[in-house]
Amino acid sequence: MKNNKKSTISKVLKLTHRLQPGHITLIVISTIISATWKFVPVVFGSIILDQLVQHQPFEAILINALRMLALQAACSLSHWGLEHIIKVNGAVISEKIDQMICEKSFMIDYDILEKRETLDIVKKAEDGMNARGDFSSFCSQLSGFIEHALSIIYSIALLIPLFISRASVPAGFLPEFLNKWYSFIILAFMLILSVTVSSFTKRKEGKMQADLFQRNIRVNREYGYFYSLVFDYATGKYVRLYKMQSLVEAKMKKILDFLESGITNLVKKVNKMQIPFFIINCIMQMTSYLYVGLKAIFGLISIGSALKYIKAYSNLVDSVSSIFYAYIEISIRSEYLSFFYDFMEIKNKQYEGTIPTEKRDDNEFEIEFRDVSFRYANTDKYVIKHLNQKIRIGTKTAVVGPNGAGKTTFIKLLCRLYEPTEGEILLNGVDIRYYDYKDYASLFSVVFQDFNLFSFSIAENVASGTSYDEVKVLDCIERAGFGDRLSKMEKGIHTNIYQQEDEGVEISGGEAQKLAIARALYKDSPLVILDEPTSALDPVSEYEIYRHFDEMVQNKTSIYISHRMSSCRFCDNILVFDEGQIVQSGNHDELVKQEGLYKELWNAQAQYYA
Ligand code: ADP
Repeated sequence: MKNNKKSTISKVLKLTHRLQPGHITLIVISTIISATWKFVPVVFGSIILDQLVQHQPFEAILINALRMLALQAACSLSHWGLEHIIKVNGAVISEKIDQMICEKSFMIDYDILEKRETLDIVKKAEDGMNARGDFSSFCSQLSGFIEHALSIIYSIALLIPLFISRASVPAGFLPEFLNKWYSFIILAFMLILSVTVSSFTKRKEGKMQADLFQRNIRVNREYGYFYSLVFDYATGKYVRLYKMQSLVEAKMKKILDFLESGITNLVKKVNKMQIPFFIINCIMQMTSYLYVGLKAIFGLISIGSALKYIKAYSNLVDSVSSIFYAYIEISIRSEYLSFFYDFMEIKNKQYEGTIPTEKRDDNEFEIEFRDVSFRYANTDKYVIKHLNQKIRIGTKTAVVGPNGAGKTTFIKLLCRLYEPTEGEILLNGVDIRYYDYKDYASLFSVVFQDFNLFSFSIAENVASGTSYDEVKVLDCIERAGFGDRLSKMEKGIHTNIYQQEDEGVEISGGEAQKLAIARALYKDSPLVILDEPTSALDPVSEYEIYRHFDEMVQNKTSIYISHRMSSCRFCDNILVFDEGQIVQSGNHDELVKQEGLYKELWNAQAQYYA
């Protein structure tokens, strides 16, 4: 799965081009302009200085000064305009990348998404982009590389005349040596030395940063969790009541100490490593001034040229070390960006079906679990064992049993959030894996125990979308028993819930559960599945829900998990789960007469109502 540097660079370029065609071309043009612009004052400055030394006419000097200014202005204006477009394009690319990440998250198999390794990959992709820039800053880095390359070419072109011998040379070893072309070895040697030391330093620093990044992935994720606790008002009550501040603080401090010691160590080491580079850089600067200065003193070059060569040499040094820096930085960044591709290339394992589910007006669907066994990926223990069961159409099925018996897992398997480890689940005789997933999912209206409502308007929550049928929304809200509460809301179904939204209203757990039921009803699917649908409701609301249950689910097939045994009485069939198996099934009257788990559970609750 790991992406390497080269493949990442070409993928980044291709993707950038796909997301914003022309962006890379603009970057290249802007880079060429920027590199050229830097050399305009160097070339013209040297010409003007020589003209001044030679007392040339004022008009000739003025013409060169104006040429320089005009070129500078043209470069600066076009560069400014291009950079503006590049910035806007960069922002568009970032948004599109965020969108791709969201879409990918929704497409990943549910069981892969909940794995810790996946969470780490997601965190790596996110942190990688934050730590070392995103796509557009990666492109800027590439443009920096091109700019330094051009700057090297320009500098060398300007420096060549420095090493061309002159006919008349003052007598003496030094002027004669300086007049020879091979005297450039002095400058070349200093250049190579400086670049070698600086690139070694940078490479080591990059490696140390990457190691630190890898080491911090998990602790950063943990820290993110603890930090979110601090601002989550829903958990705030537990933190206060159970005096958990010191526990949370201690855990955060431990992580902060760990992170801080890593960074302090890194900074210390990097500072130490940079000392030789600074010393060599100073020596190199002095040598170049001495070399060019002596040539000017011996009359081998003009004063204006001396200025040009000094500038060209220092540009060359800067550009050569910068190009190494840029190369190393691109390598480091491409490694960080490869985490994004690791995430984007996560492969789903579940079978991707293609068959459309039959759209039947008669809602004639038959479901069969055929010798189904299941264990979660991270455990060896089977939580569903050799389960065989048919769900009859148009019936109401209740699922009961102790905690951990496998009831919710049974529902999750039916909804295809997980695939059976062994056996198969059939819909109208066909393995459910062969159906197109979206099509299949549309058959179910599910309310899980951990139903999540979103901080949107009530109507958007119920309809799960921005466009909705208001009459249908109101009808479902009424059927789910939320009508009274809604009538007290000034903005009705347009009221926002929870405080993330403007004027968001807080609702109780029971009220939220009613809205979750309304959402399931709005979906109007042929199968209604409710996992403990009334756990947060008061007894009156609960009674109302069951009294109107027939009306609520109408003629649909319904399956619901309940701890309230009395609510099972009106069901056609009751499945009693224990340790991943169905140990009893039948209707209430049959089961209550049999010795077994159902009777035990029934009697245990009945005594409270006696
Ligand atoms: P029930 O709904 O009957 O209370 P569940 O189906 O939720 O039971 O859980 C059955 C067993 O599977 C439990 O032992 C539970 O701890 C385990 N389990 C549930 N979800 C997961 C998961 N995502 N990963 C690993 N084990 C799980």
